[in-house]
Amino acid sequence: MKWVVGNWKMHTTAQEAKLLARRLREELYEPELPRRVRVIVCPPFTSLCSVQEALRGSWLQWGAQNCHEELEGAFTGEISVRMLTALGCSAVIVGHSERRRTAGESTERIARKLRRVVQAGLWAILCVGETLAQRRAHRVRAVLTHQLRSALQGLEPQQWESLLIAYEPVWAIGTGQAAELEHIRQAHTLIAELLTQLGAPGHVPILYGGSVTAENAQQILQLPEVDGVLVGSASLDAWQFCTIVRVAALCTSPIPTC
Ligand code: PEP
Repeated sequence: MKWVVGNWKMHTTAQEAKLLARRLREELYEPELPRRVRVIVCPPFTSLCSVQEALRGSWLQWGAQNCHEELEGAFTGEISVRMLTALGCSAVIVGHSERRRTAGESTERIARKLRRVVQAGLWAILCVGETLAQRRAHRVRAVLTHQLRSALQGLEPQQWESLLIAYEPVWAIGTGQAAELEHIRQAHTLIAELLTQLGAPGHVPILYGGSVTAENAQQILQLPEVDGVLVGSASLDAWQFCTIVRVAALCTSPIPTC
C-alpha cells in the first residue's frame, strides 16, 4: 500500500476546489486503485466543505493543512481538530516547513498539535526536513533527530498508529528540483531508525515530498524505503495528480481481500 497526499496550499476557491475534487473522483474511479493506494487531498480550510461534498461516498479522503492545538477557546482565526472532524477530515498536515518558517511554528507547538490530531483519531502527517544550509553543513542527521524527537517523544503506543512522516527537504519544496534518489533513500532509512529509537511499536509510513511530478514519481515511488509521496504544486493539476496515483498503484502490491 502506498500513500499519495496532495497539499493544495493557499490555492483554490471553494468552487474551484469542488471542480478539482470532482474531476479526481471521476478520473480515479478504478476498482483496483483503493486496494493499492491511499489518497488524501488537503485543500485550504475554506474549501473543505465543498471538497467533502464532492468526495463523500468515494474512496478518496480529505484532510487539512494545519489545526490549532486546543480543542476550542478564544483563539481568533484558528481552526480546531473538532471542526475538522465534523467536516469529515481524516488527516492533518503538521509542521509543514512553510508554517515553521512563515508562521513561526515552534517544535513545542508542533508536538502539541500532533498530539491533538492523533488523540482525535486522525492521521497526523508530520513534516520534517533540512534546509539547504543545514544540508551543506552536514547537519541532516542532527536536524531530523531534533525534529522527530521534539514532536514524538512520549507518544502513547496506540498514537503511533495514527502517524505518517513526510520527509520534505526544504530546498526541494516548490523548486522543481526533487532530491536525488540516493539522498531520499538515506534520509528515509535514517528516519526509520530514529523512529525505532523513539519507541515506534511498528512500521510508520514515511512519505517523500519536494517537487514530485508525474515525470519523477515512478523513480521515487519504486524505492522500497518510500511509502508514498506528499505532492504540492502537481496536486493542483488533475492529470498530474491522477498519474502519480496510478504510478503509486503500480509500485505496490495490493492489500489482500478476505
Ligand atoms: C509541499 O508543499 O509539501 C510540497 C512538497 O510542494 P511541491 O510538491 O510543490 O514541492
